[in-house]
Amino acid sequence: MKVMTEDDRYAVLKSRPKIFSDEFFVGVKSTGIFCRIGCPARLPKRENCVFYDTAEQALSAGFRACKRCHPSSHAGEASGTIKKLIALIENAPDKRWTETEIKALGIDPSTARRQFKKRFGLTFTQYVRARRLGAAARDLAKGDSVIDAQLNAGYESASGFRKAFANTFGTAPANTNQTPFFIEWMSTPLGPLFTVCDDTHLYMLEFTTRKNIERGFEKLRKVHKRAVIPGRTAITDQIEMELKAYFSGVLTEFKTPLSPTGTTFQNQVWKALQNIPYGESCAYSDLAIAAGNEKAVRAVASSNANNGLALIIPCHRVIAKDGSLGGYAGGLEKKKWLLDHERSNKPQ
Ligand SMILES: [Zn+2]
Repeated sequence: MKVMTEDDRYAVLKSRPKIFSDEFFVGVKSTGIFCRIGCPARLPKRENCVFYDTAEQALSAGFRACKRCHPSSHAGEASGTIKKLIALIENAPDKRWTETEIKALGIDPSTARRQFKKRFGLTFTQYVRARRLGAAARDLAKGDSVIDAQLNAGYESASGFRKAFANTFGTAPANTNQTPFFIEWMSTPLGPLFTVCDDTHLYMLEFTTRKNIERGFEKLRKVHKRAVIPGRTAITDQIEMELKAYFSGVLTEFKTPLSPTGTTFQNQVWKALQNIPYGESCAYSDLAIAAGNEKAVRAVASSNANNGLALIIPCHRVIAKDGSLGGYAGGLEKKKWLLDHERSNKPQ
C-alpha cells in the first residue's frame, strides 16, 4: 500500500462508495460546500475538489457543511487515520513504531503527526510513549514497584524508563503519584467538545473549534507535569450527564468539581464569572469590579478569554458595554446561541 495522493482520493470519490467514510473530506470549490465520502450528491469535477483530513479543516477553510451528508456532525470525531493508529496502539501498547511501518500501513507519517498534534497536542510517537508511561504512572500510583512499572511499560533498562518518564511527567518515576489526565470527546448541539479529567476533577472543557487548543494542553502538562491520554473517569461521566441536561435547557448550574489552571488573578476573575447568574450577562468593567480591581478591565478581558472551562466558567455571559456581543474564543455564533439558550430557559 502507498500514501494516498489527491488523485487517489478523487478515484475513491469517483467510485461512488455506498457507505459513508470519514477517512477524508472533500470541499467543492464551485459550490463552497463540503461532503463526506459516500455522499449521494452529484460527483464534483476533479478540478473543483479540495481534500481535507478532517471536517474542521474544511470548515476552517470556509466550506459550508452539505445538507445531505452532514459532514460537520463529524467534526471533532477522530479521523480514519487516527482511529486506525489508536486501534493498533491498543493492540500492542509496547510496540515502537517506525516511519517505514506506518508508511507500510498506507498512512503518511506527516499526516499522522499533524492529526495527532491537532487532536491530542502530541505527535504520534509522543502519544505512543504517553500511553505507555500513563499506564506506568497508574501502576505506580496503585503502589506497584518502579521495576514492575518499568517492565509493564516495556522498558528493559531502568535508565531508559527513567528518562522517558521524566520527559513525559517532568519528574522521576519514584517521585510521583501523578496519574495522567484523561481526555474524552462528546458531541453537543454546538459541535463537539472535549473534556480533560482525572478521578476527582475536571481540568478543561473546550469546543474543538477553539483556536490554539495545543497551547492549552501544553500549559496543563507543564503546570501539572502529567500526561494527557485518551480515556474516561467518573468525572467524565458526571460532566457528560450535566452537559446533556444543560443543552436540553434543564440544568442551570454545574456541580462537577473543577480545577482551573491559572494565576491567582485569573482564578479571581473566573470565580467572579461563576457568580453571573444563568440567563444574565454583564460587561467587562462590571467583571473587573467583581474581581476586585476596577482598573484592570484589559487583564480581566484577557483572563476571560483564557478560561479553559467553557460553559461552566461562563465567559460567554460577558458582553461589551454597548450591549454588543464582544468576543468569544469558541466563535461568536456559539456565544449568541448560548446567551439565547439561557435566556429562554431561565427559571421564572
Ligand atoms: Zn454531501
